Amino acid sequence: MKLHEYQAKDLLEATGVRVLKGAVASDPAGIEAAIATLSPGGPWVVKAQVHAGGRGKAGGVKLAKTREDLREKARAILGMTLVSNQTGPQGVKVRKILLVEACDIAHEIYVSILMDRKEGRPLVVASAEGGMEIEELAATHPEKILKEHLDPLAGMQPHQARDLAYRLAPGEAPDSPVPAALAELLMGLSRAFFKYDASLVEVNPLIITPSKDVIALDAKVALEDNALFRHPELEALRDVAEENPKEVKAAEAGLNYIALDGNIGCLVNGAGLAMATMDLIKLHGGAPNNFLDVGGGANKDTMLAAFKLLLGDPQVKGILVNIFGGIVRCDLVAQGVIDAAKEVSLAVPMVVRLEGTNAEQGRALLATSGLPITPAAGFNEATLKIVEAVRGK
Ligand code: GDP
Ligand code: MN
Repeated sequence: MKLHEYQAKDLLEATGVRVLKGAVASDPAGIEAAIATLSPGGPWVVKAQVHAGGRGKAGGVKLAKTREDLREKARAILGMTLVSNQTGPQGVKVRKILLVEACDIAHEIYVSILMDRKEGRPLVVASAEGGMEIEELAATHPEKILKEHLDPLAGMQPHQARDLAYRLAPGEAPDSPVPAALAELLMGLSRAFFKYDASLVEVNPLIITPSKDVIALDAKVALEDNALFRHPELEALRDVAEENPKEVKAAEAGLNYIALDGNIGCLVNGAGLAMATMDLIKLHGGAPNNFLDVGGGANKDTMLAAFKLLLGDPQVKGILVNIFGGIVRCDLVAQGVIDAAKEVSLAVPMVVRLEGTNAEQGRALLATSGLPITPAAGFNEATLKIVEAVRGK
């Protein structure tokens, strides 16, 4: 689950990270209220709150010097469609903005903590040269990216934090407060990563001001969905408006669904079979529209919800149903297809492969339904048929 910057800053502040919080607005009245809470002097920064990075380069972060300028920029950014390298060409609508006092920057550092799945341990990725060009730096100067694994039980150790701090802010005077403050801030990021079961904590830029303050100027936190049950209070931070509407709908129906960008809708039971189905579609030159595991205990309602989701998706040009009935009964699946096709017209080709429990009854139901469904007698044949059916669409 991704969080907005302003939410991430609240969580980081609670684990001892120094942040500038500002005030959030989502409509013109909110802008006025937010401005009233800021220091009157300025300058300030207006920041789009969307679940995507690269806002600075996309015009979603703007400095304002006067109050009038602040109001104008806030109104311009709120409601704009922000297109960054992380949003896709269609962009995302800005529904919330953060207004915050600006601060002077002497130095920008990059730091993130994420899960290194290969090593099975959290990994700190950091660079003394942070800021908006970090992706380019990683590509052209990989030696400037520091990496440090964390112990999964103990978290960041003070000696690791000190070592990182000296490498991230080199050349500080012996009496500079920066290394100690930076080390403390890094410890706070680690505490946040562990406390909230985060999958990502990223601060870019982490700044050193001319007066030697160390502040997390930006904050990105993603929470591990599989651990959210341990943090019911964090569920309130979910912003469904920012999430893929198809995935939101699927989650409401209790479906295990991930949207992809192909045109073959997949309805499969079992995560392994679903993965294999997508692989085979790809192998035969097609592109899956989604991952969907209806699960072993799929009932009529979940089947209906699954078909409605796929049939209602204009991107879907064909549907492949691949069911191996173990616990789930093939006749129930077939009935789900028929019921859904009655509610949402079946305007695209559908190939169905049913095997296992009650497969015979299932196939008979489909054959007599009058629906334009192509049966397939095997997994390979089924994928070949659907790839062929959507070719050129
Ligand atoms: P991102 O592009 O989505 O990562 O958004 P950031 O919050 O990182 O902002 C982009 C850039 O705007 C930062 O790298 C800073 O250079 C600049 N910026 C953000 N806040 C301030 C601020 O308070 N003062 C100044 N001078 N620059 C800021
Ligand atoms: Mn940033």
